[in-house]
Parts: sequence; C-alpha cells; structure tokens
Amino acid sequence: MECIFCKIIKGEIPSSKIFEDDHVVAFLDIGPCEKGHTLVVPKCHAARITDLPAEELLPAMEAVRRVAKLLCDRLGCDGFNVLQNNGECAGQTVPHVHFHVVPRWNGRGKPTWKEGKYDSPEEMAAIHAKLVNG
Ligand code: 5GP
Ligand code: ZN
Repeated sequence: MECIFCKIIKGEIPSSKIFEDDHVVAFLDIGPCEKGHTLVVPKCHAARITDLPAEELLPAMEAVRRVAKLLCDRLGCDGFNVLQNNGECAGQTVPHVHFHVVPRWNGRGKPTWKEGKYDSPEEMAAIHAKLVNG
C-alpha cells in the first residue's frame, strides 16, 4: 500500500495545507494534541530522519520554524513543541518523516501528547483559514 503522506503530497488525499515549497508540505494533523497541531513533511519519501538526504533537512527545519511562528502569530499560542518520532517503538505510526509542531498555551497544565479532535469540520476550517489568511 502506498504511503499516506506521499498521497497527501501528490494531492490524491485532501489535507488542510498551510504551507508548501519545493521541499516540504505542512498541513493540519487530523488528530491534534492541540488545535492548530501541524505536520511538516519533507516531500522526499524516507521512513526515518536517518534515511532523509542531508540536503532535505535544512529546508524542513526552516519550514518548522516558519510554521511555529505562524502558530504563535496567528493563533496566539505562548509556546510550542517540535516532535519527530522514528520507529513504532517511538510512537511513529506513519513511516514517512514528519515533524509535529504543536501550539501550547499558558494555564493549560502539563502538556500531553494525547490525540484529540476538532469539534467540527468548520472549526478545523476556521483554524486553517486563520493560518493561511491571517
Ligand atoms: P506519528 O505518530 O507517526 O509521529 O504521527 C502521525 C500523525 O499523522 C498523527 O498525529 C496522526 O493524527 C496524523 N495523521 C495520520 N493520518 C493522517 C491523514 O490522513 N491526514 C492528516 N492530516 N493527518 C494524519
Ligand atoms: Zn511517503
């Protein structure tokens, strides 16, 4: 079966894309830890960060920084996490390298990695629009 993130990159599966360049695509996670949780995905298919060609790493990190700034500027988060899982034992469920960028707010207690969801497709669309259009 073909990789689900490769299908998203090719546009064969819809996603709430917030950024794209020649190397990377970034879209909202469908099971967010916090609303606005975004995945930054190198277009080059590689299962683990150790499989990714070195020249793809800097563009990916630049996109992570750009996405994190967008989350802070447009959603008003106070901080954020960047996480990247490698291997099933580390919690990786999609074997295509990706960076989680998770917005965090003061006063919400100890951050968790529990999968959540949007209250409605409209809520997800509104957050997507805020990130894309300001
Ligand atoms: P991992 O556990 O591999 O580090 O993270 C995979 C992430 O991909 C999970 O947070 C999961 O919610 C997300 N995910 C899985 N399938 C899809 C999908 O089809 N679309 C989107 N937008 N996110 C997905
Ligand atoms: Zn892939």
